[in-house]
Amino acid sequence: MASKPKKTITGVPLIILEILQKHPEGLNIEQIREIGKFEGQQHLDRRVRDLDPHFIIERTRSGTHTIYRLNGERPEGDYDYDVISKNLRAKILTRDGRRCRMCGKTIDEDFVKLHIDHKIPREWGGLTVEENLWSLCSGCNEGKKNYFASFDPELMNSVLGHASVHRRIAEILRLKLGKWVDCDLIEFVANFDDYQADWNKRLRELRYFDFQIESKNQKIGKRTLSYYRLNNWPENQPADLTAAARAFERKRASTNKLKNIPGA
Ligand SMILES: [Zn+2]
Repeated sequence: MASKPKKTITGVPLIILEILQKHPEGLNIEQIREIGKFEGQQHLDRRVRDLDPHFIIERTRSGTHTIYRLNGERPEGDYDYDVISKNLRAKILTRDGRRCRMCGKTIDEDFVKLHIDHKIPREWGGLTVEENLWSLCSGCNEGKKNYFASFDPELMNSVLGHASVHRRIAEILRLKLGKWVDCDLIEFVANFDDYQADWNKRLRELRYFDFQIESKNQKIGKRTLSYYRLNNWPENQPADLTAAARAFERKRASTNKLKNIPGA
């Protein structure tokens, strides 16, 4: 395991490499932070990632932690499977309509730069495959990374694993039951599987099923943010909230139509 550091590796990644070489049993990010005295260093996991093109860093999950273990030098030309190829990038951009999957901004109309991002981060075992890749603008990409860093990965994975947008919103509010949740987080969770033009409406629809949700606005700098708070976890809620919300809307629409027919 006496891998010689490559010339291209310097600074924080080099220190991390040397730490991992001394700890073949593997370390989690907090242990690396402590040994390397990286107190103020943000995004230490990304600095570990800087080693990927040159070294094989195994990642295994242990509870809520990821354990990083150095498994030798990466053979020349072996890195391709981890990198998003030009072809794959082009394919994902076309699939997403050259549009940010979170905020809906486009390259052509809003002139945003789109990144191809791993939905489930690679550090948590997310794969470089079409289903796990999506287009994000710089702002959403940054915001997403910061949010993910601040949440327990297993809880977040369980929230984001739901196919129903209503269920994802309900579960993120449930994680913070009785506490205010800002709209950016709810928007991210709502848009996780598919871009929602009107996630606020999806949230309001939860009220059909006895979810007691309060809202408030608060000015943060120049932005006015909305916050939502769930005060209860309804006992009798439909398993498929999205299907139930659609059925509720359909029923209401047909009732309204009947009212508009003269004589009905
Ligand atoms: Zn965006």
